Amino acid sequence: MTTIRATCATCGDVELTTADVSVLIDQDSGDGTYSFRCPLCDSVVVKDCPTHTVDLLVSAGVHYAMCALPNEPVPDLTAPAFDHDDLLEFHSFLANDSLVAGALEGLRG
Ligand SMILES: [Zn+2]
Repeated sequence: MTTIRATCATCGDVELTTADVSVLIDQDSGDGTYSFRCPLCDSVVVKDCPTHTVDLLVSAGVHYAMCALPNEPVPDLTAPAFDHDDLLEFHSFLANDSLVAGALEGLRG
């Protein structure tokens, strides 16, 4: 089994096996993160890694999963700033259970 050397922020370099490491790959960019539980301090370590590192880890036999980042709404930079009136309106909205329930129902589609 391939030995992988990684770094824990607390313990420094540690040696792992392919079974100790997991990779999460962004299906759009090919970049990803790898994670492992440090064998010395038991902390979970998560680090970003570029595509070539992802490829090396996967080719070594590390378990991986693909993911897609959610589509974030694009902010309207021309929209007026959120002010005290908006805050009061939002407070009134949150105080009305039927409005909140309706809004949550709308999110479910
Ligand atoms: Zn550690």
